[in-house]
Amino acid sequence: MKTTQIIELTEKYGANNYHPLPVVLSKGEGVWVEDPEGNRYMDMLSAYSAVNQGHRHPRIVQALIDQANKITLTSRAFHNDQLGPWYEKVAKLTKKEMVLPMNTGAEAVETAVKAARRWAYDVKGVPADQAEIIVCEDNFHGRTMTAVSMSSNPEYKRGFGPMLPGIKVIPFGDVEALKQAITPHTAAFIFEPIQGEAGINIPPEGFLKAAYDVCKQHNVLYIADEIQSGLGRSGKMFACDWEDVEPDMYILGKALGGGVFPISCVAANRDILGVFNPGSHGSTFGGNPLACAVSIAALDVIVEEKLPERSFELGQYFQEKLREINHPDIKEVRGRGLFIGVELHVPARPYCEKLQQEGLLCKETHDTVIRFAPPLVITKEELDWAIEKVKKVFEQ
Ligand code: PLP
Repeated sequence: MKTTQIIELTEKYGANNYHPLPVVLSKGEGVWVEDPEGNRYMDMLSAYSAVNQGHRHPRIVQALIDQANKITLTSRAFHNDQLGPWYEKVAKLTKKEMVLPMNTGAEAVETAVKAARRWAYDVKGVPADQAEIIVCEDNFHGRTMTAVSMSSNPEYKRGFGPMLPGIKVIPFGDVEALKQAITPHTAAFIFEPIQGEAGINIPPEGFLKAAYDVCKQHNVLYIADEIQSGLGRSGKMFACDWEDVEPDMYILGKALGGGVFPISCVAANRDILGVFNPGSHGSTFGGNPLACAVSIAALDVIVEEKLPERSFELGQYFQEKLREINHPDIKEVRGRGLFIGVELHVPARPYCEKLQQEGLLCKETHDTVIRFAPPLVITKEELDWAIEKVKKVFEQ
């Protein structure tokens, strides 16, 4: 089938909950993807940072094949031989004592909220059903009811009420507002150390650490949603590393499965994750051996191929090159590592469409921001190729 037919079919039967660029991807390798007609594009989105390791990384695909030939799903009614080794890997990487596996990012966020609430009642001593969670304006924690209840975006919530109670929203990066929002009933502060969907928003310097200190003073859990910012994307293993802060809980997803198989988790110490007991939480597919085997390979690739270091160095280089483009439509270039937003004074979509014509797949975020987040295996030469295309589009 050709691109036009595939898009027609997709639009005919699919619920209309996305607005993709008019390109069909049928193959991928490393940073490159291809449409059915054989046109090649450089992927500058990495499936919202799920493909940090590059498309179809051979080692990750091999892990998938090997495990698929053994056993794929056991449910948690029984043990499987991949879960323990995967737990250990994630625990060592996050320096946490315990891990709880789920499948998608939003489910891991649900897990974090449940853990925080139960911790508030069982450990902190908050009266029943009074626990509060503090979140940041313009956050993105997913699309489930809990996640949209945490959102400040009316379009994410419209027609989906009633929302989950017990959520307070503060401006992103505002420590004073965090202090004001905390009450004796506050269970947790849940935040993205870099807001991805909001347009690659980087908090003011010192915020991550200051917010951590405030949370510690008030016995509030400091929970970092590193689903998008983590696992090398920002030029460090975790975006919290930029201020040397170790959150009480990490929420991970996306690149945890190397873009090959969905897997997500939360990681925290026993005093927090120990609140779960059999029957209190779970998922049929959570911790399945196929996902765990893939994730072990995905994490090995991140560490052994030094993807955080690559992102740090190449990100600096690419940001410098982007800043050299002098164009009145460009308001700001910001980022950490290869997690970059170019904010425009005008809508970003027409620019993304022009970049597509030049062979560069970017997606606008929040209308006026072009996000540049290529797979972290990208080379300097490939970035040079990309920057020529970006320049050309701005000079048109
Ligand atoms: N949290 C953050 C920071 C995200 O960026 C996303 C996805 O973009 C999610 C949560 C939700 O993840 P998923 O789409 O896998 O449910």
